[in-house]
Amino acid sequence: MSEYGYLKDEMKKAAKRAYDISLQSGDGGNLSVRIDGKELILIKASGASFGHLEDDDIVLVDFNGTLVSGDKKPSREILTHIAIYTQRKDVTAIFHSHSPWSVSIAQSSEILPTISLPLEMKVGRVPVFNIGASHADEEVAATVKELLKDNPLIKAFIQKRHGIFSLSSDIVKAEHTAELIEEAAQIALLSKISSPN
Ligand SMILES: [Zn+2]
Repeated sequence: MSEYGYLKDEMKKAAKRAYDISLQSGDGGNLSVRIDGKELILIKASGASFGHLEDDDIVLVDFNGTLVSGDKKPSREILTHIAIYTQRKDVTAIFHSHSPWSVSIAQSSEILPTISLPLEMKVGRVPVFNIGASHADEEVAATVKELLKDNPLIKAFIQKRHGIFSLSSDIVKAEHTAELIEEAAQIALLSKISSPN
C-alpha cells in the first residue's frame, strides 16, 4: 500500500460516491485530509475527476501550498483548504462540491433554510457567503477565515455561485454532510413551488 494508503482510499471512496449520485459532475470539486499532527494536506489534483480518482491524483502539500509529494498540480482551491485547516484545528477533512441545488438556493438565501429536520439535527446552521467575483484566491481564503471566526462551530458553509464546503474529522462523513446539505437545498427550493407564499 502506498504512503497514506488508508487516507487515500477513504478519499477515493467519498469522491466516487459523490460522483455516482451526481453531487459532483465532470472534474470539478475537490477534497482533502490533514495528516494528523502535521501541517500537511492530502488533496485532489487539479483536473482529476471524482468519478475515477487514482492514488496519483492525490498529492501531498504543506500549509504554504507547496507540493511535497506527487507529480500533479494540487487543486486550485488549495488556499481555501489551508485557510479552513489554519482556522479550525478540529477539522481534518474537507469535502467540496459544486452541487446544483445548493448553489441555486444560495442565490436567494444568507443561510440554508432548515425545513429539513435531519439537517437541523445533524448539521445545524449552514451559512452562505458571497465573496464577489473571485473563485479561490487569497481574498477568498481571508474571507473564509473571517467567516469561521464569526461562526466557530459550523460544520459546513456554501460559497455563493460556487458550492458546498463540508468540514469534518472524517472525509466520508464530510461527503455525507454535503449530501444532506444538497438534499436540504432541494427540499427548500421544491417547497417554494408547493407553497410559494
Ligand atoms: Zn470549487
